[in-house]
Amino acid sequence: MCPERQVYLLDPQSLPPETIAVTFAKTSRSPQSFRDIAAELTAEKSAAFHEKWVVGYGHASVAEHAVLHIAVENASRLAIETLESCRLASYTEKSTRYQKWGSEDFFHPPELAGHPLENRYLETCRTLFEHYQQALPKVREVIASEYPCQPDEDEATWERRIRSKYVDVCRFYLPAAALANVGVTINARALEHTLRKMLSHPLEEVRALGTEIKNVARSVVPTLVKYADAVPYLQALPPFLAQEAEGTPIASDDWCHLIAWDAEAETLALAACLFRYSHLTFEQARKKVAALTVEEKTALVQRILGNLDRFTPPIRELEHIGYTFEVTLDQGGYFELKRHRMMTLSPQPLSTYLGYTIPRAIEAAGLYDSYNRVMEMADQTYRALAVWNPEVAAYVVPNAFRRRALIRLNFRQAWHLIALRSAANAHFSLRRLAQRMAERIQAVTPLLGQFLLVNPDETWQQIEARYFLRA
Ligand SMILES: Cc1cc2nc3c(=O)[nH]c(=O)nc-3n(C[C@H](O)[C@H](O)[C@H](O)COP(=O)(O)OP(=O)(O)OC[C@H]3O[C@@H](n4cnc5c(N)ncnc54)[C@H](O)[C@@H]3O)c2cc1C
Repeated sequence: MCPERQVYLLDPQSLPPETIAVTFAKTSRSPQSFRDIAAELTAEKSAAFHEKWVVGYGHASVAEHAVLHIAVENASRLAIETLESCRLASYTEKSTRYQKWGSEDFFHPPELAGHPLENRYLETCRTLFEHYQQALPKVREVIASEYPCQPDEDEATWERRIRSKYVDVCRFYLPAAALANVGVTINARALEHTLRKMLSHPLEEVRALGTEIKNVARSVVPTLVKYADAVPYLQALPPFLAQEAEGTPIASDDWCHLIAWDAEAETLALAACLFRYSHLTFEQARKKVAALTVEEKTALVQRILGNLDRFTPPIRELEHIGYTFEVTLDQGGYFELKRHRMMTLSPQPLSTYLGYTIPRAIEAAGLYDSYNRVMEMADQTYRALAVWNPEVAAYVVPNAFRRRALIRLNFRQAWHLIALRSAANAHFSLRRLAQRMAERIQAVTPLLGQFLLVNPDETWQQIEARYFLRA
């Protein structure tokens, strides 16, 4: 008789993560049930298994079955960038859109202890935070008059409705030293990779945070992250490449430049869709698509993309075509953009060299002059510090300053990012970017691009004019 199907959970309350990982790994060679395998294991046997198979023979994927939930509090947003650089993990952090920062909620880098510029750093951060706090009620007034309380709305509901709108503007003051909390769910393999990056990092804070994470992780996965250490390759290559790339920083001609896309992208994507559900060679599928009339192609794309809502992603075959963008946006916006994991993101170091943006509401709140003064102050402090240590200098850079990044993403990820970030509840920096990316994608792949779920109620030009004095 056919054995009965079984589905059950391995209980993380009673089985440590390393034991769960071994239980799953052993099914590869053992005919026993998972329950029986787990019953025979101890923490010591699990550790010995991992030493032999994961560490010794490099069967590293086994470590993916050991999952940790790590709470990190009061790390700088600059350090969080490295922590969040792993694409195979999940993060939720303190939001600059929904929470407010206190006047001393910023990181004091140990590298600066006793340094002649230490006081200047502290003074600049304190000034930025003071201005942030003074701006909150003033910008709130502007937003409150723009979005008045409705007759059917109580005070608390209205406050919730306008809160993110004025906090969204004031976040431009916050420097990368601002402290945040982040919850991380990550498997032991991805964690080991992240720790290697953190322990190889030029900033002391990132290395110390890496060490602390490693220590707490070892209490539940004693073997799997034991050997995570600094990697000489990761330590040596960035400074070497930085030296090779030395040159004067200039602004890009286009803040959202579509640099490259696949030739014959649409034929390729449609052929991939047919290929997946057929027994054709790819060349046969490609020829089939190439022979279709425009109307037939449109009808095919309509079936593939035409009836989706933003919660139903298109089929995976849309990943076979991609786009490379060079984008420049404010650091606050970049910090949100980097959370999209299904793309390749290469940010340049955070600096003040590309200048800063000015939200329109800052001027409306009567803060134009003081905003410029404090941004100039941050710029000067950054430049003074950067001569000595550009990594440490980055702590002082406010969210208003521009950051440039290279992005490679496939159509499916672009579809998701544009739907999510052009939506009315997204931050205006991201809405502007999503609209412009959509426009570029539509220009080179119009057949597919017409089905992007881009918010039809505004354009990037309207967003720019409405929210930015200087974008
Ligand atoms: C309105 C709004 C409010 C937000 N507020 C906060 C906040 O307060 N704090 C905060 O930290 N972040 C916040 N975010 C960011 C959000 O949590 C996501 O990190 C971000 O939008 C990236 O998008 P994504 O997770 O959909 O997927 P991406 O990383 O862009 O990945 C694309 C798709 O791949 C799949 N995917 C990727 N990784 C995984 C995974 N590990 N497991 C399962 N599926 C995966 C999902 O289907 C996902 O939609 C907010 C976002 C929005 C839109």
